[in-house]
Amino acid sequence: MTIQFEHDSLLLRTLASGAQLRVPVFRFTGGAGKNVYIQANIHGPEIAGIGAAHRLIDLLRAEPALHGSITIVPSINPVGLDAKINGMQVGYADLNETVVGNFNRVYQLLVTEKTPTDAEDIQRVGLEDFAAAHKNDDVPTITREFHGALKRALADVRAKKGREGLRFGVKLALTVQELCADADYLIDLHTAGIAQYHIFAFDEVLPSVPYFGIAPIIVLPDDFAGVLDEAFLLPWVRLRKALQKVGRDLPFSAFEREAFTLELGSADKIDARRMDEDARRILNYLRHKGVLEGAATPYTARYYKAQQSNYARYNAPTGGLILWHKRPGDHVKTGEALCTILCAYNRATALPTEVPVLAVADGVVNNLVESQVVHEGMALCSVMTRIEDVTF
Ligand SMILES: [Zn+2]
Repeated sequence: MTIQFEHDSLLLRTLASGAQLRVPVFRFTGGAGKNVYIQANIHGPEIAGIGAAHRLIDLLRAEPALHGSITIVPSINPVGLDAKINGMQVGYADLNETVVGNFNRVYQLLVTEKTPTDAEDIQRVGLEDFAAAHKNDDVPTITREFHGALKRALADVRAKKGREGLRFGVKLALTVQELCADADYLIDLHTAGIAQYHIFAFDEVLPSVPYFGIAPIIVLPDDFAGVLDEAFLLPWVRLRKALQKVGRDLPFSAFEREAFTLELGSADKIDARRMDEDARRILNYLRHKGVLEGAATPYTARYYKAQQSNYARYNAPTGGLILWHKRPGDHVKTGEALCTILCAYNRATALPTEVPVLAVADGVVNNLVESQVVHEGMALCSVMTRIEDVTF
């Protein structure tokens, strides 16, 4: 079997100067099989995934066979990557947009419970009607029809939202959704401040997690917050529930769709050894899914999970400088200090100069904010709480 390797350059944005921002897209195509979409760097400071994707391309070029296709976008967001202030990476949002915000919160949900009745509204896929119409179909028909309906809904979002011109964040999100519209498996590579490796996944796809070898798992709810993995997989999670309601009970695995957000450690860090390790995690997953040949090995680790609703995000109670008492991966007990905010400016006043931030619940510290300078109300850290061990 010959594996085709192509690359493309997608025009994403024209700047005031006429400079054109392009996104390099790499695609491997083999024989019949599943389609995989892998991207990194939607958040500009999150560069570890660029390295992983780069090394993955090297490794894939040495593979003898491919069943399906793999699309890799090592850096999906040049606006985010290029956004620097005083030498610091700041591109989590477009600095010139006041409404759209976080680049990973603007993806579009393509399903709704009831079919829209007004033709002027975006024609998202109405789950109740779809389930009623297809409850007796075989699984390949349901999958094909639903996939087609999602693509039509995506085209309708682009057409209707685009009438008055798209905000850049929305254009970027829709472009990503179009790039992965034919994918069966999606991997979105991120990092998180100063962080331990962790992974976001729906319950429905947890059995594949050991093939990435990332032990802390944050389980996504049936809830939409505009994140890519949700936009990709939630329609299928909800389709399954809609079919159950009309008496058709299918295992989620019947749809053969998976999505994962891999958080590859800390932001603004890249390391040759980890690039290689991270590329091999993805390669192992691709073998597990049969896209590549050869045996996949689940990584041995002590896997544990927390529901996203139990993923505690602490904010600074006052402004000052952070003295950390805990690091990512550390266990913390209720009442124990995560950090102390040093308020040196309070010396010679009645106010405290050192304000401890105490853990509200037991858990594992997942990530810390990068800067040790905070204003009141800024993010401090995230802690996984009500942790459960997972055995595979
Ligand atoms: Zn991110």
